[in-house]
Amino acid sequence: MPASRKSKKIKSTPEYLTINGETVEPGEDRDIRVPIARLPSGTEIDIPIMVSRAKEPGPVVLLMAGLHGDEINGVEILRRFVRSGYNKPFRGTTLTIPLVNIFGFINYNREAVPGKDVNRSFPGSKTGSLGSRLAAYIRQEILPWVDFGIDFHTGGGSRYNFPQTRAVLKDKQSFELAEAFAAPFSIDASLRPGSLRQTASKMGKSILVYEGGESLRFDQFAIAEGLEGLMRLLASYNMQEALVPQTKQRHLVEKMTWVRAKQAGMFQPFVEPGEPVQPKQRLGIVGDTLGNSRFMVESPCEGFVLAVNYAPVVNMGDALLNIGRKTRLL
Ligand SMILES: [Zn+2]
Repeated sequence: MPASRKSKKIKSTPEYLTINGETVEPGEDRDIRVPIARLPSGTEIDIPIMVSRAKEPGPVVLLMAGLHGDEINGVEILRRFVRSGYNKPFRGTTLTIPLVNIFGFINYNREAVPGKDVNRSFPGSKTGSLGSRLAAYIRQEILPWVDFGIDFHTGGGSRYNFPQTRAVLKDKQSFELAEAFAAPFSIDASLRPGSLRQTASKMGKSILVYEGGESLRFDQFAIAEGLEGLMRLLASYNMQEALVPQTKQRHLVEKMTWVRAKQAGMFQPFVEPGEPVQPKQRLGIVGDTLGNSRFMVESPCEGFVLAVNYAPVVNMGDALLNIGRKTRLL
């Protein structure tokens, strides 16, 4: 769809945009630090939010990463984005939050505090736990300004996610965002209870989730794919220029299936993320530590390997590989 047609559906940039009491007008850039909480030590924790506004009206786009504190590829994607000046749009506004869950980040942890996943804490509460407060802040103070956004993630634990976007594709705006981003895999993913995506959806705003790489590790391929997709998406709204046009093969995935360990042991995968697989194809092996028993892990269907668990020690029922099924070429 031509960008000019798409952009007509987006409301114009508001004349003023106020975050934490600081008003940013069209044509202005501002780095705002929002004090979100104090650590038990008394240290104040600020969330940095970079607001960059063009004079020309256009969409207000939220770009955020690190909602899961150990998923650092997205933090690096947005660091490169800001460092290169790409956050300064030709039109409209970018709201960039490279690291939302500072608590998890400094503790190398997915959660804000033990047992509190921010992305399961929406809509949140201003008097709740840290995770719930972060969720409430984003819902009450950030989302109302936003037309749409991208939330950058990686696989959890030691699971590597091949670069992919997740969105409810029957929603027109979400579909357009996924198409504009043009990741190798576009997954039709329902809304998870308590997620940012679900809360934003209730407010009539689409948030595209990008997943690439694994937690606590930089993956240059996933970082590059994420930045290139972000730039393509902004280019489709005439807010930036695309760095790399989308030329590679892309697939739409209607369903995902986790292949789980039938017995405990040590897992060794035979396939790489992104690879096509056939029914009954051997995907890996789980063996015990003595070499007495082993069992083959077979593919239940035709599809593509979307994620691989790289933690060798597995218990019964642990997720080993995620297979995208019901795929079609885009
Ligand atoms: Zn995540």
